[in-house]
Amino acid sequence: MDNSNEKVILNSSESDIETWLGLRNVEKETSDDSQIPSLRPQGFSDYIGQESIKKNLLIACRAAKKRGDSLDHLLLHGPPGLGKTSLAKVVAKELGVGFKSTSGPVIEKAGDIAAILTSLDAHDVLFIDEIHRMPRVVEEVLYPALEDFEIDILIGQGPAAKSVRIDLKPFTLIGATTRTGLLTSPLRDRFGLVYRLNYYTPEELALIAKRSAKILGTEIPNDAAYEIAKCARGTPRILNRLLKRVRDFADDKSNGVITKDIVHETLQLLDIDGAGLDQMDRLLLTTIIERFNGGPVGVETIAAAVGEERDTIEDVYEPYLVQEGFIARTRRGREVLPKGYSHLGLTPKETISEQYELDL
Ligand code: ADP
Repeated sequence: MDNSNEKVILNSSESDIETWLGLRNVEKETSDDSQIPSLRPQGFSDYIGQESIKKNLLIACRAAKKRGDSLDHLLLHGPPGLGKTSLAKVVAKELGVGFKSTSGPVIEKAGDIAAILTSLDAHDVLFIDEIHRMPRVVEEVLYPALEDFEIDILIGQGPAAKSVRIDLKPFTLIGATTRTGLLTSPLRDRFGLVYRLNYYTPEELALIAKRSAKILGTEIPNDAAYEIAKCARGTPRILNRLLKRVRDFADDKSNGVITKDIVHETLQLLDIDGAGLDQMDRLLLTTIIERFNGGPVGVETIAAAVGEERDTIEDVYEPYLVQEGFIARTRRGREVLPKGYSHLGLTPKETISEQYELDL
């Protein structure tokens, strides 16, 4: 798509423009780290796991710094809680530049993104979370901004409307998405660096648990850290959440001393099983098995049956169940695999649908 004629329509007079181009819908660097103390990694050295992505990004950051350029635009995709926001902040820190963050659904109008873009300093990182949920009209303003660091704005309306080109300072867009498939290809094509974050191994999560425990002012022995790690669905955010519950339980029951038994008791209390599946995961499996004969069944139907949003099922629950082989996405819908049946102590159905579509 040719972007040279993209315009941002501002329904305001020229004199209003300065005021108008103030910061809107942008979070300053520290705002979402307000949880004290912050468990977010502060640099590449304490960002655990995702080794090959880190290696590549570190090289790209150093090269950009050496050349005095901004880093290429970067797209991070993967399920929620895997560290996309954290990695974006780490990258900005490594580059030694400012970090501003916003999210796709918050930027409603073309003017909103224009205001954000014109407020950036040279080489700053602009982080847009859930970038797949950005309105099309906003996305179109981004094309020339990403490619040529400029935007065209249209001031006023009707015959008196005047077009003004605004040069932007070079910046780096870091987009994060749980659904790369929902990004339009013109937008996806404008990212020079694209990485998919993977689920973490229990060993990596155990290291994160040790680090987080230290920040929270407590200690966790290796075996207990590993027990939590095994049940955290490969996801640091879930791990940190579990760790905090374990700490509460330990404070209440054992003077704050965390042991493997304390971890087990906490997980039992939270109704999380040995595979890290919670009530909703098991409800999804049993619903497909009992009400739809194991599938295949459409996600919309499952969502209605369990009373959960379709997006939540697709973004939060399903990727892990698919990755671990509990369910499969077939062309005709979702289907429980033998591992899903045996996890619930049931006998698998004889035939499983012909073709799995294991696209995550
Ligand atoms: P996302 O943006 O992908 O939803 P976040 O970056 O917000 O995920 O990560 C959620 C939390 O998990 C962070 O606050 C941080 O404490 C922790 N976390 C994520 N990735 C890592 C990592 N690689 N090492 C240590 N902690 C991490």
